[in-house]
Amino acid sequence: MKKIAVLTSGGDAPGMNAAIRAAVRRAVYHGMQIFGVYHGYDGLIQGDIQEMSLGSVGDIIHRGGTILYSARSQEFRTDEGQQKAVEQLRKHGIEGLIVIGGDGSFRGAQKLTQKGFPTIGIPGTIDNDIPCTDFTIGFDTALNTIVEAIDKIRDTATSHERTYIIEVMGRDAGDLALWAGLAAGAESIIIPEEEQDMDDIIERLHAGYRRGKKHSIIIVAEGVGSASVYADKIKERTGWETRVTVLGHIQRGGSPTAFDRMLASRMGAAAVDLLLEGKADRMVGIQNNQIVDIDFDEALSQKHQLDLSIYQLARSLSI
Ligand code: ATP
Repeated sequence: MKKIAVLTSGGDAPGMNAAIRAAVRRAVYHGMQIFGVYHGYDGLIQGDIQEMSLGSVGDIIHRGGTILYSARSQEFRTDEGQQKAVEQLRKHGIEGLIVIGGDGSFRGAQKLTQKGFPTIGIPGTIDNDIPCTDFTIGFDTALNTIVEAIDKIRDTATSHERTYIIEVMGRDAGDLALWAGLAAGAESIIIPEEEQDMDDIIERLHAGYRRGKKHSIIIVAEGVGSASVYADKIKERTGWETRVTVLGHIQRGGSPTAFDRMLASRMGAAAVDLLLEGKADRMVGIQNNQIVDIDFDEALSQKHQLDLSIYQLARSLSI
């Protein structure tokens, strides 16, 4: 394989640039040509494709977002759109494609493989919601952003003796909420993977109050609904003043952490190596700190598993 391409798709995540850089540099290292596809699958259909060089990925390892831009493409969901995408790739003489994105992007990549075009996926999403990999690129950076924000909110919560309810991203997965909740010492963590008992949340708040605690932090994963609903319920049952903070898109931005840069560099290089070995229809993952590759079908047929031992640990530490 002599010519390959890389694109980013779905929600952007810090570390995607480091993965692009690694793919480009690894390809050049192997004597291959590599092209960047701009604006995800939409750009692929339009032929928004340019050759990349060692220099074109200089000075990006520390930048959030993606220099290739990302998009969600309706047209690519159709057979005709996928056909056009394959034609564009063939027109440029490209023989393999690396897709950096979430599970939706992988389903798209799989469609290309089914049309005879080899693809490899790299998990890039802050949500950490992809099966068969311990971590996705961007999760660690978002986690650190959230913890930093909670630390700041804690300062004002302490000063005003209030209960703060903080809503964090993660889509249907509770990983960001759970890890941030443990790392920031939240009193309660509300995640979709565990049934919530309002009595238990109130009892925990009261227990803290009885031992002199004047403020509390409760983390709500967006997958369980709006934080304001929980704020209203808590206020109704305790009479305490509550404040809601929805962290929003600040969680998606920022310079990637060293962990995400390492992960992205390892995964970007591995994706190129897999194409070179003639492998396709697979995603790169990390399991027990080892880079692995898994069949798309196998990965996408599974459900992401959150580590519930962390939930139990957080509960035992926030008594
Ligand atoms: P994130 O988790 O950050 O949202 P994602 O990759 O899951 O990332 P999606 O919007 O689900 O984001 O998918 C990105 C793009 O992949 C879609 O806009 C669409 O073009 C393509 N795609 C998703 N699912 C399919 C599918 N079943 N068939 C073909 N293409 C798909």
